[in-house]
Amino acid sequence: MDTRTVGRSDLTISVAGLGCNNFGMRADAEQTRAIVQAALDAGITFFDTARMYGGGKSEEFLGAALAPVRDEVVIATKFGGRMSPDETSGSRELVMRECEASLTALGTDRIDLYQMHFPDARVPVEETLQALTDLVAQGKVRAIGCSNVTGWQIADATWIAETRGLAAFVSLQNEWSLLERGIETEVLGACARFGLGVLPYFPLASGVLTGKVRRGEAAPEGSRLNLPYFSTYLTDANLAATERVAAWAADRGRTLHDVALSYLASDPNTASVIAGASSPEQVTANAAATRTDLGVEDRAEIVAAVLGG
Ligand code: NAP
Repeated sequence: MDTRTVGRSDLTISVAGLGCNNFGMRADAEQTRAIVQAALDAGITFFDTARMYGGGKSEEFLGAALAPVRDEVVIATKFGGRMSPDETSGSRELVMRECEASLTALGTDRIDLYQMHFPDARVPVEETLQALTDLVAQGKVRAIGCSNVTGWQIADATWIAETRGLAAFVSLQNEWSLLERGIETEVLGACARFGLGVLPYFPLASGVLTGKVRRGEAAPEGSRLNLPYFSTYLTDANLAATERVAAWAADRGRTLHDVALSYLASDPNTASVIAGASSPEQVTANAAATRTDLGVEDRAEIVAAVLGG
């Protein structure tokens, strides 16, 4: 398993991570333990959760499963994200309150990577960064990251951190997969310029990029692709793109699944590809499929295949 340093931090993590948003929702405590054990067995050392996943159950189940190996793994979680009209997402009060709740749920004394789940237009980012800086000074947080932000928001937050002596974001977590490449336009450039390691979310487009659904067929029973929120990936255009990438992969003795994950992992901006899993078998397969061996020309050809060129 290759490892990477997360941006300008001292965190070293496996290039295949585990996304934990199924825990507490589609996986109970026992299933979580089995999935986490499979991840550890495969060499995964990076686990991404959030306060809001499963109403706190994801953190609770994950923390319990990782307790025996706490010092050997890197745990990332996130604050905010409810975005209801009467609750701010980045206020000092919320950051402090949610950090305590996350520490308790995870059963740990520090969060390795603490991420702002969404930017909050109603709270100046100075306030959020000051709260996070205080948490770092208190030893409750080792490094901080952001999620669902634009390139200008990365530049703005980095400039504010540098000029005011505050902690700076070292990671960026946005959606990125072969079927959603918007991040490549300017966010990736901002990450390279300002030293943020990238943690692509929805890297498998909720499973579409494993090849488990074909054009004209229904999603497998029990798959999350039957749920309205996730089924939006199931368009004819997306499924046609997966067929073209699968053909490119087959010509080289590879699979759609491994090319989808390796395309992300082979980008030098990427710190860890945090595919989710609903079974131990899935995480084992994802770890094996996350390779860093695709060159610039391979990746250009894959994009051409996605686009139909
Ligand atoms: P994903 O990685 O694109 O898809 C995960 C789903 O794909 C699994 O639940 C499973 O679906 C299917 N799958 C995974 N491996 C498989 C395999 N080997 N074979 C067949 N199917 C497989 O999406 P995600 O888990 O939602 O995203 C990754 C992580 O990113 C999350 O867990 C979370 O930590 C993070 N995230 C962050 C944000 C944010 O706003 N920052 C948003 C979304 C996600 P079934 O459940 O149907 O089996």
